Amino acid sequence: MANFKSGFVAIIGRPNAGKSTLLNALVGSKISIVSPVPQTTRHQIRGILNLEGTQIVFVDTPGVHSFSDPLTTHLNGLASHSLEGCDLIIYVADVTRVPGQEEREVIKILLRQDAKVIMALNKIDLGTKYLNDYIALWQSEAQGKKSKDFLLFYLPISALSGKNVDDLLKVVITNLPEQPAFYDTTTQTDFPLSYRVADCVREKLFLQLREELPHSIAVEVEKIEDTKTKSGKPIANITVNIYVNRDSQKRIIIGAKGEMLKAVGSQAREDLEKMLNKKVFLQLWVKIMEDWQNKPRILQELGYWWT
Ligand code: GDP
Ligand code: MG
Repeated sequence: MANFKSGFVAIIGRPNAGKSTLLNALVGSKISIVSPVPQTTRHQIRGILNLEGTQIVFVDTPGVHSFSDPLTTHLNGLASHSLEGCDLIIYVADVTRVPGQEEREVIKILLRQDAKVIMALNKIDLGTKYLNDYIALWQSEAQGKKSKDFLLFYLPISALSGKNVDDLLKVVITNLPEQPAFYDTTTQTDFPLSYRVADCVREKLFLQLREELPHSIAVEVEKIEDTKTKSGKPIANITVNIYVNRDSQKRIIIGAKGEMLKAVGSQAREDLEKMLNKKVFLQLWVKIMEDWQNKPRILQELGYWWT
């Protein structure tokens, strides 16, 4: 029997490239998380995939942005930091969008790492319009920067439909080092609930607001409480805070007569009820916190990761 393989795999890419969707496709319902186990300060562990003879530890990276404000600098620094010590990196690019400055930033960060990179050219179910542009951009940015080519693969995928995701997983497994598992291979639990709740609210905000979505937004799950309704049915009481910088942004999120926030809330509640298999009472609060981006501690508490 071949030796056991394991390693840390980071998924990186600009916001909305499809990182979360890909993670879900890769791990499906097989995800397990080591939430109570202390994590390394560097690696925020997102999920662990235990397969026959292999353990893959997926780590979180904050989204890479191209704006030149303190938040961006901070986030890009964090992104870079969170890649250190990883065995492999999956770089997710959205081929339906023209590669721009953000992509250059991602590539620059990647070119400073030791870990090998697999470039997942995502969303090919929508066409392959800019696919070659991404490859060309990588090649031109990488020109002369590395003595050996450390890009393993360009792999066109659809995280949403699952196309080529199996191949991607095979490439990952093939390229993991032979070493024992880092974590217990038997625990099969779920993402911490707060991650999934925050992800769900973020997704609905994005879907509702689209281009209007403020760049400076953070979602924090304040409370998840299991109680019972008056008639004795189980209900989850969930409070979520949405942080923005300015009153104008708050007004956008709340919308005319509160309709935007109401739509976000009811869509999120619907998903959460399916997820939890019980009734959910969801409260969303939009709060103004000037300058929260400049407070690294707050960023961490808000879980401004995995955008
Ligand atoms: P993240 O910000 O990088 O984590 O991106 P998400 O995983 O949240 O995806 C952003 C949006 O792109 C969501 O609406 C996804 O449903 C969509 N998306 C992700 N992957 C694909 C894909 O392969 N095809 C299509 N059509 N949409 C995708
Ligand atoms: Mg995401």
